[in-house]
Amino acid sequence: MSREEWRGFGVFIEQDEGVVEETSLEILGRIRELADKYNIKITSFVLTDDINRIIDKIRYYGSDEIVYAENSLFKTYLSDVFSTALYRLVSKYRPRYLLLPATRNSRDLAGRLAIMLRTCLLAHVISIDIDPETMRMNAAVPGFGGNIAAVCECVTMPEMATVSPGVFTPKIRKDIEPKLINESDLTKDLKTSMRKISRTSVARPDISRSEKIVVAGAGCIKDLELIKRFAKIIGAEYAVTRPVADAGLAPRDLQVGSTGISLKSKLVIVLGASGAPHFVSGIRDCGTVVSVNIDPDAPIKDFSDLFVVGDLYDIVKKLIDRLGG
Ligand SMILES: Cc1cc2nc3c(=O)[nH]c(=O)nc-3n(C[C@H](O)[C@H](O)[C@H](O)COP(=O)(O)OP(=O)(O)OC[C@H]3O[C@@H](n4cnc5c(N)ncnc54)[C@H](O)[C@@H]3O)c2cc1C
Repeated sequence: MSREEWRGFGVFIEQDEGVVEETSLEILGRIRELADKYNIKITSFVLTDDINRIIDKIRYYGSDEIVYAENSLFKTYLSDVFSTALYRLVSKYRPRYLLLPATRNSRDLAGRLAIMLRTCLLAHVISIDIDPETMRMNAAVPGFGGNIAAVCECVTMPEMATVSPGVFTPKIRKDIEPKLINESDLTKDLKTSMRKISRTSVARPDISRSEKIVVAGAGCIKDLELIKRFAKIIGAEYAVTRPVADAGLAPRDLQVGSTGISLKSKLVIVLGASGAPHFVSGIRDCGTVVSVNIDPDAPIKDFSDLFVVGDLYDIVKKLIDRLGG
């Protein structure tokens, strides 16, 4: 397929059981500005089990056309089914710029799709522009834990990116009546071995709003229960670094850092974490940072108001004794 055959913007409208992901509408808000400026068409792609339950939530956000496929398998996200379906739609409509929300499901989808389309993918972008000379998409990708933002371009088609949530603002555009195109036939043969979805949800505190937090790093792995006990005694919430979550020892929504939660607490106590940039970006907006590390040269020292050198287990046990826990 030649480069010239790829035209316009494509946006994946993420939905799960009829709940539309706000980031998709935010993306439309930004690219409508670019579409108006450069006279570019916007095609939104929707995979749903029932278009009627979501169409009113997406119709007037600036799409020129909404291409949808209905299939009972699209009720909730399934990697293989969604990637095959979207691949077929994208191959048919060939948008030059293809944007998806940088959410858990759409990140998975975007990665798979980029491989299937043999194209590049800019991840978690925080700005989108078009170079007026080359008409290439310019998008800023945060790197090194958010310390830099590199403006990147894709040189293959389609030019793909996932867009970070909360960067743009959705805008209602009732002046644009999108054309609705039903492409369900393109996906009716899809099958999956996974049929039954059951959800369990555990009520957890939203740690991004907690005032006092104890973060357990990889140095705590030998006794995470001790750290949890300590957090409870001092009335703090408990969070972890990525290696602890990666090891399956804590749920992902307790992970602090660039690919986890950003904290804004008044006090954060960091135990047994080295202070890698991807972690530190998650505690940058906290008030007082106290850390404990056995290594006197651990980089977390430079981000701490109080840096204690010592064995965290000894220190935490002593603190628990002192506090009468
Ligand atoms: C794209 C990308 C995104 C990432 N996103 C995140 C993210 O969101 N969050 C995140 O945390 N990481 C993230 N990471 C991983 C990150 O780069 C680091 O690998 C990670 O933060 C290290 O975690 P840690 O400090 O717990 O472990 P380590 O780096 O292994 O540090 C363990 C520390 O514990 C200390 N220690 C060991 N035993 C004791 C003891 N008995 N007493 C006191 N101290 C002790 C050690 O001296 C060491 O400093 C990301 C990486 C990439 C590439």
